[in-house]
Amino acid sequence: NTPLHELDPEIAAAVDAELRRQQSTLEMIASENFAPLAVMEAQGSVLTNKYAEGYPGRRYYGGCEHVDVAEQIAIDRVKELFGAEYANVQPHSGASANQAALFALAQPGDTILGLDLAHGGHLTHGMRLNFSGKQFNVVAYHVDGETGLVDMAEVERLAKEHRPKVIIAGWSAYPRQLDFAEFRRIADEAGAHLWVDMAHFAGLVAAGLHPNPVEHADVVTSTTHKTLGGPRGGIILAKKDFAKKLNSSVFPGFQGGPLEHVIAAKAVSFKVAASEEFAERQRRTVDGARILAERLTAPDAREAGVNVLSGGTDVHLILVDLRASELDGQQAEDRLHEVGITVNRNAVPNDPRPPMVTSGLRIGTPALATRGFTAEDFAEVADVIAETLKPSYDASALAARVRVLADKHPLYPALGE
Ligand code: PLP
Repeated sequence: NTPLHELDPEIAAAVDAELRRQQSTLEMIASENFAPLAVMEAQGSVLTNKYAEGYPGRRYYGGCEHVDVAEQIAIDRVKELFGAEYANVQPHSGASANQAALFALAQPGDTILGLDLAHGGHLTHGMRLNFSGKQFNVVAYHVDGETGLVDMAEVERLAKEHRPKVIIAGWSAYPRQLDFAEFRRIADEAGAHLWVDMAHFAGLVAAGLHPNPVEHADVVTSTTHKTLGGPRGGIILAKKDFAKKLNSSVFPGFQGGPLEHVIAAKAVSFKVAASEEFAERQRRTVDGARILAERLTAPDAREAGVNVLSGGTDVHLILVDLRASELDGQQAEDRLHEVGITVNRNAVPNDPRPPMVTSGLRIGTPALATRGFTAEDFAEVADVIAETLKPSYDASALAARVRVLADKHPLYPALGE
């Protein structure tokens, strides 16, 4: 029963340092968030000790009576939250959920149609080195070079031409809402299944701020740790016709024992996501992203060569276009890091620079909204970012402004400083 800092001081020091980093900097990676203490408590519980292969009521191990309760609560809550007929809460991650979903809908060698990674898609939607790209015949659609919006005419054309088994709608870096009804129409005409990956925007859907893909898709996958604000993990929702195939694809298809401690933490986060407080936080998240887009399209930002793809945002992130800036994506990411703001560089469509450098940034607001940032705070953050990306920037003055914002909204105060 030795505490961590005595048993393993090296790991304890890394954990403490990471807590201080999260507390003292502004986290603006669009796929990150801060889980509530209650979520982390469930995740750090004795449920980690339990083997529970199978599903509630049908396990291959004894002693599952309590994890059955927790897993069933997680299933019931997430079905209610998104209005789904079926839910599987066992996928260890978003990529695991996607793998299980894809293999339930298609066979290796079948054609799949997804958004190109370089245009905002995810690795698991058909990237060459991923299982999806290695085992399936991938056809990719794109965003329009002018508008920055998904080219639905291309989606329809490719669907008619290639007759994919699965059409994938969803993204990792896209600042607008997708037209799920139109994807459904195209899928029906092509005889394809429609799979929506809502990993990024699930929290907005839960709060009623984004169309709900569950109404249109055969299968919907998500992570639980991005806008949804829960533990790191994945889920699959679907029409009940797909239940059997999806359950056997997750277990025994791809996974062994489920992470019952994480599933309990997912249940807690679904309870939180059904609250008015959560909806209010998601409204601040979207408002914050809009404020960033407005300020980073203002004339002086444009003079510094900074622009915002698609001209704005409907969601929790913006994509900054640096093609006209003296900075590339790597340099801009490093500069923001220097003043205490964490973002990630991101390719813009038809990026002239290599993927490790890029000409863009992806900037998200979920973590700061969770921290309590208001519209006024987001305006200040936007101004600090705009100043930092100008040729003449004063790193120490900007870092001081970041510290003021971080101090104004303490993170995990109960965990100490
Ligand atoms: N799907 C989308 C759209 C994502 O953006 C991500 C992660 O970035 C994933 C799936 C994969 O999630 P994980 O990192 O949990 O495997």
